[in-house]
Amino acid sequence: MQPNSNRARDKAYVVHQHTNLAIYDRDGGTLITGGDGVYVTDEDGKRYLEAMAGMWSASLGFSEHRLAEVAYRQMKALPYYHTFYARGHLPSVDLAETLLAIAPRQPGAEPLTKVMFHCSGSESNDTAIKLIWYYHNAIGKPNKKRIIGRHRGYHGCTIATASVSGNPTMHQDFDLPLPGFLHADNPHYYRFHEEGESEEAFSQRMADNLERLILDNDPGTIAAFFAEPVQGGGGAITPPARYFELIQPILKKYDILFLVDEVICGFGRTGSLWGCQTYDLRPDLVTCGKALSASYQPISALMLTQKIFDAMMAESEKLGSFAHGYTHSAHPVACAVALETLNIYESDGTVEHVRRVAPVFLDGLRSLLDHPMMGDVRGVGLFAGVELMADGGKRIPFPPALKVGQQVQDECQALGLIVRCIGDRIALTPPLIITADEVAELVRLFRQGLDNVWARIRDDQRV
Ligand code: PMP
Repeated sequence: MQPNSNRARDKAYVVHQHTNLAIYDRDGGTLITGGDGVYVTDEDGKRYLEAMAGMWSASLGFSEHRLAEVAYRQMKALPYYHTFYARGHLPSVDLAETLLAIAPRQPGAEPLTKVMFHCSGSESNDTAIKLIWYYHNAIGKPNKKRIIGRHRGYHGCTIATASVSGNPTMHQDFDLPLPGFLHADNPHYYRFHEEGESEEAFSQRMADNLERLILDNDPGTIAAFFAEPVQGGGGAITPPARYFELIQPILKKYDILFLVDEVICGFGRTGSLWGCQTYDLRPDLVTCGKALSASYQPISALMLTQKIFDAMMAESEKLGSFAHGYTHSAHPVACAVALETLNIYESDGTVEHVRRVAPVFLDGLRSLLDHPMMGDVRGVGLFAGVELMADGGKRIPFPPALKVGQQVQDECQALGLIVRCIGDRIALTPPLIITADEVAELVRLFRQGLDNVWARIRDDQRV
């Protein structure tokens, strides 16, 4: 029998990503059919405030017609071309020029002068790993190949980017990580600080451990360190005080390239255009994606310093070609949409808006700290993480079998609020255009979701 409802057809044919496939096969899911500002609507007409901006990415919400119009115009003018074999097209040139002009550059940092476009954050980070290997071969340091990521870091799900990521469920049964990938500590102060340890002392411990990891593995073999300014998929974890200030000199000391993954943080999420500005980061390579096109087209970027590009150029001359590229990289429609997105951020003052609304958002969430399930609220700009705890003060977690995070996520969805649970952490990253009134609605619905779950688990006397 052919499945006849849309949900039944979805269940029958589509393999969903990062989903428990057995539960999905039993229960099905939600099909989103429309969007309007910070809201999306499902096929039954139910409306949700999208407090995750899709995948931390739909920065301009779900009905920005200026982007649709640019895409349509570009499709008519030149729907496709590539950047292989010394050919190219204007949308990629225009986007490259504009992006590099606003690229992060902290005092003392090398400027980022070149850019490669891809279709996803994973592809840009994966390409970065290849380039880091290529670069070290080119400069005569072929042993310098190992990459350090961090536990709970997220950089994508290709074979190499899942390896640099530090999420055990992304390694298990995929035969990952590949050899040559190491993981430094997860700098999650609330969870892992020792009694009485200050944030600064905790950061110092993280930096000391990183240096030990480098020394234990021979600094002459370590090529690069990957970090997100704020860890997203790991649980919306803001870095503790002085963390990057203490980490960066260690990288310099051992001649280790620093890749900053701005895939979530880039374009205003943290209240500055770049996470690099918020945390004073001086990278050699920067990746970005998601909000580069407000997620209206799949496009990401990898930006490089001239030093890296010069070595690539020399190597490609020697080898006859820089033998790397994807068919849809620098797709003209995606480039045109991304360029318009950057223009909108500028003309609409999107980053300034984030700075104005962020205190309302973060104070609103902190006002929930009186709730019995709340352990911690942390955040920067429109990027927040909440720890659900059986006893917040004593940092006593709920029993994992209770799946409290999942319960809160489901309860919120039933109330018309989309949030994301990461274990018993809840991430909230609404579209950057969210208004103060919509933030108030978000906080009200979130409290209601917490109340409903609390009523259930308290009455069950399961904690
Ligand atoms: N880096 C970070 C920090 C991310 O959050 C993500 C995706 N959530 C990626 C890389 C991978 O991006 P994509 O899903 O576009 O491949």
